[in-house]
Amino acid sequence: MTKTLSREDCAALDAADPLAPFLPRFRRPRGALYFDGNSLGMLPWAASRRVVEALEKEWGEGLIESWTEAGWIQLPERVGAKIARLIGAEADEVIATDSTSINLFKLLAAGLKLRPGRRVILTEAGNFPTDIYMAEGLAQLLGDVEVRLAEDIRAAITYDVAVVALSHVDYRSSALADMADLTAAAHAKGALILWDLSHSAGALPVALGEADFAVGCGYKFLNGGPGAPAYAFVAKRWHHQFVQPLAGWMGHAAPFEFEAHYRPAPGIKRALSGTPSVLAMTALDAALDLLLEAGMERIRLKAQAQMDLFARLVEQRCAEIGLELLTPRDHAVRGSHLAYRHPQGYALTQALRARRVVPDFRAPDIIRFGFTPLTLAYVEIWDAVEQLATIWREELWREPRFAMKAAVT
Ligand SMILES: *Cc1c(COP(=O)(O)O)cnc(C)c1O
Repeated sequence: MTKTLSREDCAALDAADPLAPFLPRFRRPRGALYFDGNSLGMLPWAASRRVVEALEKEWGEGLIESWTEAGWIQLPERVGAKIARLIGAEADEVIATDSTSINLFKLLAAGLKLRPGRRVILTEAGNFPTDIYMAEGLAQLLGDVEVRLAEDIRAAITYDVAVVALSHVDYRSSALADMADLTAAAHAKGALILWDLSHSAGALPVALGEADFAVGCGYKFLNGGPGAPAYAFVAKRWHHQFVQPLAGWMGHAAPFEFEAHYRPAPGIKRALSGTPSVLAMTALDAALDLLLEAGMERIRLKAQAQMDLFARLVEQRCAEIGLELLTPRDHAVRGSHLAYRHPQGYALTQALRARRVVPDFRAPDIIRFGFTPLTLAYVEIWDAVEQLATIWREELWREPRFAMKAAVT
């Protein structure tokens, strides 16, 4: 454990890495060390080719006929079925559509409908902002719904809670929630549970188990591109019963009959609202194939090894910086990024980016390093930590203006 690692040791890890062949299958910006695949995944070459094909051939040549000929109309279900394989769901329990925010709105509303008499949406005080905002917006619309924020979720699940809405991985600390346990706790009190998988699907194997609902985003670990479609999961046992308020024609039982009134499609398709964003969906469709080919078990194994390596190198080479690791070291309870706290976190992030090392920053003082095994080499971890040590030695420790800059952000 105390052995001092060298760059050669890291290169040896790359040479033995079964996932190394995936690296050149992504477009890799020259000279950049990218640790932000947890915010925006890299572009797979296959997605690039696929979008051009959809653009030139399917749209350019096929025009309206591509809805059927190129299968555009089935894209939400087809892409949903691929995502289902990543999250332990059945193919027809997931649909790709809209944004995570919109899907939260739809499924929280569906959950309230399924629990008449209960008027509380329970979520974590530290949940991702949009998850709280969307619940608040829904509560405001309905008038008689309370959004209850808690620190200790388990203790806060009472018999008036209709839906417990939680993030699987905490976007700040990277702490991983115990999905099976919290799902059981919600059900024990008669509440439904909705999981936001934005920081876990594509990063680690997810087993939704008895969960009722889930949502997640397409542009982070799924590499679907900026503004990629998100997805919605509804457990099969609710398919005959759930309704959602954004009842558009794509979720209608017979969209092309143009009936005067809404009749929900059977199954997960009723979670759809309007026309899918086809070009964006084709990028996500192609990107998912890489994750499926690599397999989530192997991805998770490498991510854990890479996070361990990073943390160890930071300890060995950057001890004097005083970075405080917020993420648990225990493999079983962390997601796929490491969060470090530092009073000059903003300045450090800016200095790293100036040297083309790309982590991200969450105010007031958290630097996040994302680990995406299909796009990250072990030597890149070495090189990033080397840059961090250099920045501290050469620039930051004697620059009071950095501290001030951090204070105003
Ligand atoms: C990234 C993220 C979102 C994103 O929501 P969009 O509506 O797709 O912008 C939502 N929830 C969590 C937990 C996230 O990490």
